[in-house]
Order: sequence, then C-alpha cells, then structure tokens
Amino acid sequence: MIKKIVLLQVLTFSFFITADEINAQKNNETLIFKYFGAAGWEISDSSITILIDPYLSRLKLGETSIKLNPNSAKPSTSSVDNRRSYKRTDLFESDTTVINKNINKADFILVHHSHFDHLSDIPYIAKMTGAKVIGTETTVSILKAYGIEDDNLYTVRGGEDYQFENFSLRVLPSIHSALGEKHYFNSEVYKEGDIQAPLMIKQFIEGTSLMYFIRFKSHKVLTMGSMNFVERELEGLKPDILLAGVNMSRFNMYKYDERLLKVTNFPKTIIPTHWDNFRVPYGFDQSIGIETKIKPFIEKVKEVSPKSRVIIPEHLKPFRVN
Ligand SMILES: [Zn+2]
Repeated sequence: MIKKIVLLQVLTFSFFITADEINAQKNNETLIFKYFGAAGWEISDSSITILIDPYLSRLKLGETSIKLNPNSAKPSTSSVDNRRSYKRTDLFESDTTVINKNINKADFILVHHSHFDHLSDIPYIAKMTGAKVIGTETTVSILKAYGIEDDNLYTVRGGEDYQFENFSLRVLPSIHSALGEKHYFNSEVYKEGDIQAPLMIKQFIEGTSLMYFIRFKSHKVLTMGSMNFVERELEGLKPDILLAGVNMSRFNMYKYDERLLKVTNFPKTIIPTHWDNFRVPYGFDQSIGIETKIKPFIEKVKEVSPKSRVIIPEHLKPFRVN
C-alpha cells in the first residue's frame, strides 16, 4: 500500500513537471509577428514585446527628397485616398486613431534610422506605451526634443551587444539603401538640442543606419530597415529568422539576394520587409509590391536557399513562427 502511494505521488509529480515543461516549451518556441508596413514590426514571445520602426500613420505624401531609380515604384499616393495631402515641409502629425487601435503594449522599440517612415510615430508610441527606445544619437536627439525621458532612451552606434532581462541584442553598423541610382548620401546627424519638436517631415534625417540581431529565448532574428548591409558585420550570426529588405533599391547592389542569404547562413524563415507602398492607408491594394518585389525575391530564394520558407506578411495580421 505504501509503495502504491509513493508511486502515485511520483507519477503525479512527474506529470505536472512534464506539463509545465511542455507549456514552457510551447511558449518559448513561438514568436508572434505583426507587420505594420514600411519596415515596421511587432515581435513578441511569452515574455516581451518589441516594436521595430513602427510607422502606422502612412501619410499621404507624394514627394520624395531624392531622385528615384526609374525602375523604382514612384512614391504613389492614391486618388481614392481622401485624407489630407502632405508636403515635406509640413509638420509631421501622427495618426493617433490608427496607432491607438493597433498598438497596446511595447517593452522596447528598436529604430534602424531616423527617416520619417521609421521614426516619426515613435514619439507618440513611446509616450503611450512607456517603452524603452534604442537608436542612434540622431534618433535619441529627436526623441529628447519630443520630451521622451532620458531613462527610456539608449543611444547606440553599432557594435554593442547588450543583455536585457528577456532578450539580448547585438547592434550592427549598417548603411542606407542606395537610393537615387546610388547618388543618395546624407552624413547629417543631430546632437541633443540641435532640433525642436514638432519636426517637419523633411527634418527626419537618416542620421546613420543600423541593423539588429535579437536573441529571444528560442529564436534569433536579424532585422533590416534598408536594402543594404555591411557584409562582414553579419558573418557568423546565423539567424533562424531574417527580416529581409526587399524594396527595388536592392537591385543597385552587387548580388544582393545571394550575398544576403549566404552571409546569414540561409535562414530557415525569411520575411520580406519594407516592400509595401506606405503612402496609402491600410486596406489599400498592395499587389504591385507583391508582383514586382516579393515574387522575384521568392524566386531567388528558391534558387539560392531552397530550404528556406518565405512568409509574405499582410498588414496587421499576426502570424506565428515556431
Ligand atoms: Zn530611409
């Protein structure tokens, strides 16, 4: 009888341990991704929510500061978009209705560079969520101008490898897309106090570019905010998930797709980013981007990295990566 009781206890005990382990494993193995358009993402696991370049306002802005490659999709606004039109000299305004509806939590926000399609909604989102923001000196100078507290800001230049409570983060020096048929170059940076809020759209300067290598509990994610990278900075990282920049400007680069897939060790999961037309609201047609950017990229992945799976993200529709 005593034996039986002991055995039962052991079985019960081990059952609970196993169930817990299974649950823990389930939670840890899954990352949930949500695409905001442009280079904007929400990535979360059971313990943390990280936003990347969240730009949700998608202003109707028909101008660009650089001469685009003739093969590029022109900055195209839509005639059936009845929102206000903006010029580059207008003050930036966040669409707070759209942001409130689609963002409810953020622990950290990572910023690749300071152009408006990456940074301009972050002052509002950082205040709303209390998230900590990581970015360049220019990014931080702009956020300080908007009144974000010093304690919530981390200034980085690339090369840092930080341990946080639920993830670690390697910051990678990077370079901006080769816009304007490779003539794009902007070395301007802001230091604290150089700029006053609110900024005009054109005052969101690049201010140097970064990439991020995020180590979650069970996944390593490499993020891109441009169609460019410093190859030697990616050597040996081996992400299992790659957010790959696949806008038209990548065709300016020497064997962009091949070099990117090879240096990242042919990631198991590849998710195209910065491929949509972010000058139209959510719900508008994005088939041109899928046809001209994503489909050719998928063909290349099949050829160069046949074991990789490419996920085509839809705006605001969360999906799991196990
Ligand atoms: Zn940019």
